[in-house]
Amino acid sequence: MFIYLDNSASTKPSKEVIEAVQETLCSVFGNPSALCGPGLAAERLLKAARVDLARTLSCSPSELYFTSGGTESINWVLRGVWKARKRRGGRIVSTAVEHPALINCCEGLREEGAEIVLVEPEPDGRIEASKVASAISPDTILVSVMHVNNETGAIMPLSEIRKAIDASGSGALFHTDAVQSYGKLDCDIRQLGVDFLSLSGHKVHAPKGIGALYIKSGIHIPAFILGGGQEGGMRSGTENVPGIAGFGAAARRIAERREEDLELIKKARARLLERIKSDIGDIRINSPEDACPSILSMSFMGCKGEVLLRMLDSEGICVSTGSACSAKKRDSEVLKAMGLSSFEMEGALRFSFSYENTPEEMDYVADKLRDAVERQRSLMRYPKG
Ligand code: PLP
Repeated sequence: MFIYLDNSASTKPSKEVIEAVQETLCSVFGNPSALCGPGLAAERLLKAARVDLARTLSCSPSELYFTSGGTESINWVLRGVWKARKRRGGRIVSTAVEHPALINCCEGLREEGAEIVLVEPEPDGRIEASKVASAISPDTILVSVMHVNNETGAIMPLSEIRKAIDASGSGALFHTDAVQSYGKLDCDIRQLGVDFLSLSGHKVHAPKGIGALYIKSGIHIPAFILGGGQEGGMRSGTENVPGIAGFGAAARRIAERREEDLELIKKARARLLERIKSDIGDIRINSPEDACPSILSMSFMGCKGEVLLRMLDSEGICVSTGSACSAKKRDSEVLKAMGLSSFEMEGALRFSFSYENTPEEMDYVADKLRDAVERQRSLMRYPKG
């Protein structure tokens, strides 16, 4: 048995992605900047993938730049806006529950003189638009709020935040890290109201090392990598053509099947949650009720998440204790910001789903999880007394 429930860390490449990558490696090997036939074929492939991706965001292909992933896109926006606008003002508003890619980039900018204001989450993990509004000052140059949190699945109120930015009169730009929402929720740029949006391929069944950044037409930030002038001179370096082919194939599936795939995800999550609630006592659901269906965070009191993870792993079930990036740290910064106690954080597990998971698999997971929790609780003599 092998059941993969760590899809927020990375996903298994889909059949159509593997085919697209393989086909590209075998026959589209030219340099997209070259003028010979193979080069032109590679250039055509890039153009088609950009169109496929743009269709899923309702933006223009010319507003999309391929990058190496979510981390690069986020760094480009933050560093780019800071460089372009620091003379206008020094404040960047974000949240305490962002991915380390953003938090650590902000830390670097703080050392360069930026004033970083991180809005704290509500106890359920969501960010209140009114609190973001209060943090925006006349000298705010950028507001960056993730679309979906990678540990809890909390969905952030982006369109309300857009309104708050407009009402503030600050002229601040608006970025969202849509790495976890893309492919699950509607990421129509016009609805979200953002000026920048970061994406990562490996969270949507495309390869690792490919991502994209949307930059609204008319907004100017400096180029991120200088060199041969690829990606409109904004991000030089010979393009990752096989990765882009895979990302394009993933985007086509998103355009055609997002809602159907989301139904499968919802069914799997609902079955697991229902079984855990009926079979295991003393739990805490850390995800908000209306979380993105691909993520479920829970704490099992009296257990250590790490030990549960290993017990499940030995049964062929892959889960995580939090985000992959913070797996080696003791406490989750996100759960801590939500006010969970150390005891509650210790027993946390994150289940993250894909359209490949089935309700039958979830029954197996629930059985093994119940046994693992019971075994651990009896070893820890929980509950005491
Ligand atoms: N943002 C979020 C919310 C993520 O979950 C991740 C990856 O875990 C990233 C950014 C970083 O993306 P990448 O791995 O493509 O650099």
